[in-house]
Amino acid sequence: MSSEQLVRSSSLEQQWNHIQALLKRRYGEAIFLSWFQPLSPGPLEGQTLTLYVPTPFFKDWLKTHYREQIESFWASENPLVRYVEFVVPDSSGAENSPSAIANTNTPLSLSFEPANDGLSPSTCPLPLKPEASTPDTTQDVTSILDARFTFENFVVGKPNELAYAAARRVSESDHVPFNPLFLYGGVGLGKTHLMHAIAWHIQSLRPQRRVLYLSAEKFMYQFIRALRYKDTMAFKEQFRSVDVLMIDDVQFISGKDSTQEEFFHTFNALVDQNRQIIISADKSPSDLEGMEERLKSRLGWGLVADIHPTNYELRLGILHSKVHQWGIPVPQKVLELLASKITSNVRELEGALTSLMAHAQLVGRDITVETTQDVLKDLFRSHDKRLTIDEIQKRVAEHFGIRLADMHSDRRLRSLARPRQIAMYLAKKLTSFSLPEIGRRFGGRDHTTVIHAVQKIDQLRSQDPELDQNLAFLQRVLS
Ligand code: ADP
Ligand code: MG
Repeated sequence: MSSEQLVRSSSLEQQWNHIQALLKRRYGEAIFLSWFQPLSPGPLEGQTLTLYVPTPFFKDWLKTHYREQIESFWASENPLVRYVEFVVPDSSGAENSPSAIANTNTPLSLSFEPANDGLSPSTCPLPLKPEASTPDTTQDVTSILDARFTFENFVVGKPNELAYAAARRVSESDHVPFNPLFLYGGVGLGKTHLMHAIAWHIQSLRPQRRVLYLSAEKFMYQFIRALRYKDTMAFKEQFRSVDVLMIDDVQFISGKDSTQEEFFHTFNALVDQNRQIIISADKSPSDLEGMEERLKSRLGWGLVADIHPTNYELRLGILHSKVHQWGIPVPQKVLELLASKITSNVRELEGALTSLMAHAQLVGRDITVETTQDVLKDLFRSHDKRLTIDEIQKRVAEHFGIRLADMHSDRRLRSLARPRQIAMYLAKKLTSFSLPEIGRRFGGRDHTTVIHAVQKIDQLRSQDPELDQNLAFLQRVLS
């Protein structure tokens, strides 16, 4: 990001601060804290401004209840803004936005006291305070840590056991066991949680140690600001006087040469003085793009521990632990459903559980498998979308004992044509691919062929119980 971009995004930030004050005045503190504080502005594209929101539930609620008001405040604050779009940051780029990062690190907690009217939005997710805006080594690090991100609250399983063990080791050891500790893994898998847990633990065991925790993005921002105000000496001093330096999401300094340079020097200075450095990133050191070779190699010198994608057992374990923490009864069947459907990452898994509980609380009903399926249908569908046509073709071919190539071939034999139609039917029912796209994947067929196949199978299914059972089975294994 150039310094110019920083300035521009920071002025949207300022405008948003002002609008937040107006929203607070208009709706009161409780509603403000529940619904507006956790938001942060993203880019302005054309006349549409993105506002990042923590969960899909938030998005729906804001859209139906507060969109017009927010748009009108924006329009008077900044005439370029006509529309506001609420976006839940995901792993595909929105996550790269600085505001989104600040936001995903904004913790949510839940309050579930019964609301007077049963509909008060203030009983929904309540934000805690966001990360402080400037790192300050004299400031108590615990004031910017999320209270929930402790080792006690971290569920350990096969995918994260190495990272967990390494994290405990650096925080308990009285010397520097490896330098740096480099934790990496995909988005929402617990890197920030582990980083905070390390900082908490160090603070509790050795309160006199100075721990500095900040995102790479903030490091960069501080650095650019120091350059602008010609204050780089103080900047350097601040970083070099700590015992433990923790930098989260280091991939964000890739491509920024002067910041990398500064980071490299800070890094070396601390290593030379035998101070502990802990880094997290979304990729291994050698895979970090836009990072200087010498820095990559330096980052890989200590212990590199990766956090793998979750497996079913870990997801179920995490759900159990959350439900236990929040003290809300949720049937085992519901937890199993969530663990099998939401496979992407822990953040989404938690988000799903939060929406579910917020919803149940708002409408005052128990959580059941049916309500879960209803409340989370969009989320489930977006996960189902990831099912590919290839997988469907493979499964169906196996099931009927035909060759995969016959899914694409022109042969019209009934014993081949029927499975092919079934695969098209399932592709239509289970994925969000368009009819022309499905046709194309079946040997370049026309979309009318796909429509015909879907109608045919629908019709046969209602007449032929055996076919119906076959289809139900295939649908089950494919979802
Ligand atoms: P990352 O920094 O890797 O993107 P986070 O550390 O922010 O991910 O984790 C996302 C959410 O998932 C947090 O609320 C965190 O507490 C939770 N989480 C991740 N892994 C675990 C785990 N193993 N046990 C409990 N909670 C977890
Ligand atoms: Mg993180």
